[in-house]
Amino acid sequence: GHLPYFCRGQVVHGFGHGSKLLGICTANFPEQVVDNLPADISTGINCGWVGVGSGDVHKMVVSIGWNPYYKNTNKAMETCIMHTSKEDFYKEILNVAIVESLISAIQGDIEEAKKRLDLPEHLKIKEDNFFQVSK
Ligand code: ADP
Ligand code: MG
Repeated sequence: GHLPYFCRGQVVHGFGHGSKLLGICTANFPEQVVDNLPADISTGINCGWVGVGSGDVHKMVVSIGWNPYYKNTNKAMETCIMHTSKEDFYKEILNVAIVESLISAIQGDIEEAKKRLDLPEHLKIKEDNFFQVSK
């Protein structure tokens, strides 16, 4: 559908409790950026490219959705940049291109696994004595 999806917005403070403690900083977008996401952008983990202001473009993963751990009530969009910087960049403009949903990547892996497991060499493992467990 909408991929690559480009959007930008100012980095705001998130709930502040946790991600840094867990070693994963996530730069949060304001509500209006999240509200503008097309409906067919997958919630969950997506990946793509990100630039802070006019800085270098880096790989990123972005989590979209409701974080059950923190009992978030609003949909959040949080970007983790795969590049270490010493400085916080709150209030800067984050420029994001979402290129792939990792959900559909995982679904692709599942389909590939289904095909491979039907190969004779793998099917014979299914018949291994290992699975002949007495009741
Ligand atoms: P908050 O709850 O305010 O979002 P986080 O603990 O999630 O706090 O940290 C996010 C902040 O950390 C970002 O807004 C940014 O200023 C800073 N930061 C530093 N390095 C990174 C990075 N590699 N990825 C994302 N944010 C980073
Ligand atoms: Mg965060």
